[in-house]
Amino acid sequence: MSIFTKIINGEIPCYKIAEDTNFIAFLDINPNAKGHTLCVPKKEVNRLLEMDEDLYLRLMKFSRKVGLALEKTIPCNRVGMAVIGLEVPHVHVHLIPINEMRDMTFKHKVSLTEDEFIALAEAIKENL
Ligand code: 5GP
Repeated sequence: MSIFTKIINGEIPCYKIAEDTNFIAFLDINPNAKGHTLCVPKKEVNRLLEMDEDLYLRLMKFSRKVGLALEKTIPCNRVGMAVIGLEVPHVHVHLIPINEMRDMTFKHKVSLTEDEFIALAEAIKENL
Protein backbone atom coordinates (compact mmCIF):
# COMPACT_ATOMS: atom_id res chain seq x y z
CA MET A 1 0.00 0.00 0.00
CA SER A 2 1.45 3.41 -0.95
CA ILE A 3 1.83 6.29 1.48
CA PHE A 4 -0.75 8.16 -0.60
CA THR A 5 -3.27 5.32 -0.20
CA LYS A 6 -2.72 5.65 3.56
CA ILE A 7 -3.46 9.40 3.25
CA ILE A 8 -6.57 8.65 1.15
CA ASN A 9 -7.72 6.14 3.81
CA GLY A 10 -7.17 8.71 6.57
CA GLU A 11 -4.42 6.66 8.23
CA ILE A 12 -1.89 9.47 7.69
CA PRO A 13 -2.88 13.15 7.96
CA CYS A 14 -2.53 15.68 5.16
CA TYR A 15 -3.33 19.30 4.44
CA LYS A 16 -6.24 18.60 2.14
CA ILE A 17 -7.23 20.98 -0.66
CA ALA A 18 -9.92 19.07 -2.54
CA GLU A 19 -11.50 15.65 -2.81
CA ASP A 20 -14.09 13.95 -4.97
CA THR A 21 -15.02 10.34 -5.72
CA ASN A 22 -11.88 9.58 -7.71
CA PHE A 23 -9.24 12.10 -6.67
CA ILE A 24 -7.69 13.95 -3.76
CA ALA A 25 -5.43 17.01 -3.67
CA PHE A 26 -3.22 17.92 -0.72
CA LEU A 27 -0.16 20.04 -0.03
CA ASP A 28 3.22 18.41 -0.63
CA ILE A 29 4.95 17.97 2.73
CA ASN A 30 8.36 19.00 1.34
CA PRO A 31 7.39 21.72 -1.11
CA ASN A 32 9.49 23.19 -3.92
CA ALA A 33 7.53 26.40 -3.43
CA LYS A 34 4.65 27.71 -1.34
CA GLY A 35 1.45 26.03 -2.51
CA HIS A 36 3.11 22.94 -4.03
CA THR A 37 0.18 20.55 -4.30
CA LEU A 38 -0.24 16.91 -5.30
CA CYS A 39 -3.31 15.67 -7.18
CA VAL A 40 -3.72 11.94 -6.69
CA PRO A 41 -6.12 9.34 -8.09
CA LYS A 42 -7.62 7.21 -5.31
CA LYS A 43 -6.98 4.14 -7.44
CA GLU A 44 -3.38 3.14 -6.73
CA VAL A 45 -1.70 3.04 -10.14
CA ASN A 46 2.10 3.18 -10.41
CA ARG A 47 2.74 4.97 -13.72
CA LEU A 48 0.80 7.84 -15.29
CA LEU A 49 0.58 6.16 -18.69
CA GLU A 50 -0.78 2.97 -17.15
CA MET A 51 -3.96 4.79 -16.17
CA ASP A 52 -6.93 4.17 -18.37
CA GLU A 53 -7.54 7.10 -20.68
CA ASP A 54 -10.75 8.21 -19.04
CA LEU A 55 -9.23 8.38 -15.54
CA TYR A 56 -6.13 10.12 -16.98
CA LEU A 57 -8.29 12.82 -18.60
CA ARG A 58 -10.33 13.23 -15.44
CA LEU A 59 -7.13 13.58 -13.39
CA MET A 60 -6.06 16.40 -15.72
CA LYS A 61 -9.47 18.08 -15.32
CA PHE A 62 -9.26 17.79 -11.53
CA SER A 63 -5.67 19.14 -11.59
CA ARG A 64 -6.72 22.07 -13.77
CA LYS A 65 -9.36 23.09 -11.24
CA VAL A 66 -6.88 22.88 -8.37
CA GLY A 67 -4.21 24.70 -10.42
CA LEU A 68 -6.57 27.60 -11.13
CA ALA A 69 -7.24 27.91 -7.38
CA LEU A 70 -3.47 27.95 -6.75
CA GLU A 71 -3.01 30.76 -9.28
CA LYS A 72 -5.72 32.77 -7.57
CA THR A 73 -4.21 32.24 -4.12
CA ILE A 74 -0.46 32.43 -4.54
CA PRO A 75 1.31 35.28 -6.31
CA CYS A 76 3.44 33.56 -8.96
CA ASN A 77 4.39 33.75 -12.60
CA ARG A 78 2.44 30.54 -13.36
CA VAL A 79 1.66 27.06 -12.08
CA GLY A 80 4.07 24.38 -13.29
CA MET A 81 3.01 20.76 -13.64
CA ALA A 82 5.14 17.63 -13.35
CA VAL A 83 4.58 13.91 -13.02
CA ILE A 84 7.55 11.97 -11.66
CA GLY A 85 6.74 9.21 -9.19
CA LEU A 86 10.27 8.00 -8.49
CA GLU A 87 9.79 8.44 -4.73
CA VAL A 88 6.14 7.44 -4.39
CA PRO A 89 4.98 4.89 -6.99
CA HIS A 90 1.35 6.05 -6.94
CA VAL A 91 0.40 8.49 -9.70
CA HIS A 92 0.41 12.13 -8.61
CA VAL A 93 0.46 15.42 -10.48
CA HIS A 94 2.74 18.02 -8.91
CA LEU A 95 1.26 21.52 -9.23
CA ILE A 96 3.87 24.11 -8.31
CA PRO A 97 3.45 27.89 -8.22
CA ILE A 98 6.66 28.98 -9.94
CA ASN A 99 8.62 32.12 -10.64
CA GLU A 100 11.84 30.66 -11.96
CA MET A 101 13.16 27.38 -13.33
CA ARG A 102 14.74 26.34 -10.05
CA ASP A 103 11.20 26.03 -8.59
CA MET A 104 10.73 23.01 -10.89
CA THR A 105 14.03 21.31 -10.13
CA PHE A 106 13.02 19.53 -6.89
CA LYS A 107 16.38 20.58 -5.45
CA HIS A 108 15.34 23.92 -3.99
CA LYS A 109 12.85 23.46 -1.14
CA VAL A 110 10.95 25.80 1.16
CA SER A 111 9.97 25.06 4.75
CA LEU A 112 6.62 25.99 6.23
CA THR A 113 5.31 25.72 9.77
CA GLU A 114 2.24 23.64 10.51
CA ASP A 115 0.23 26.86 10.97
CA GLU A 116 1.41 28.08 7.58
CA PHE A 117 0.40 24.80 5.92
CA ILE A 118 -3.05 24.99 7.55
CA ALA A 119 -3.60 28.63 6.55
CA LEU A 120 -2.39 27.94 3.00
CA ALA A 121 -4.72 24.98 2.54
CA GLU A 122 -7.66 27.03 3.82
CA ALA A 123 -6.85 29.95 1.48
CA ILE A 124 -6.56 27.66 -1.57
CA LYS A 125 -9.84 25.91 -0.69
CA GLU A 126 -11.62 29.26 -0.65
CA ASN A 127 -10.57 29.85 -4.26
CA LEU A 128 -11.69 26.49 -5.63
P1 5GP B 1 7.90 11.81 -6.66
O1 5GP B 1 7.41 10.42 -6.35
O2 5GP B 1 7.02 12.50 -7.69
O3 5GP B 1 9.33 11.86 -7.03
O4 5GP B 1 7.79 12.66 -5.33
C1 5GP B 1 6.90 12.37 -4.30
C2 5GP B 1 6.47 13.65 -3.62
O5 5GP B 1 5.61 13.30 -2.54
C3 5GP B 1 7.61 14.50 -3.02
O6 5GP B 1 7.49 15.83 -3.50
C4 5GP B 1 7.40 14.39 -1.51
O7 5GP B 1 7.72 15.58 -0.83
C5 5GP B 1 5.92 14.07 -1.41
N1 5GP B 1 5.57 13.26 -0.25
C6 5GP B 1 6.18 12.10 0.14
N2 5GP B 1 5.60 11.60 1.25
C7 5GP B 1 4.59 12.46 1.56
C8 5GP B 1 3.63 12.49 2.61
O8 5GP B 1 3.57 11.61 3.49
N3 5GP B 1 2.75 13.52 2.61
C9 5GP B 1 2.77 14.50 1.66
N4 5GP B 1 1.86 15.48 1.76
N5 5GP B 1 3.67 14.52 0.66
C10 5GP B 1 4.57 13.51 0.61
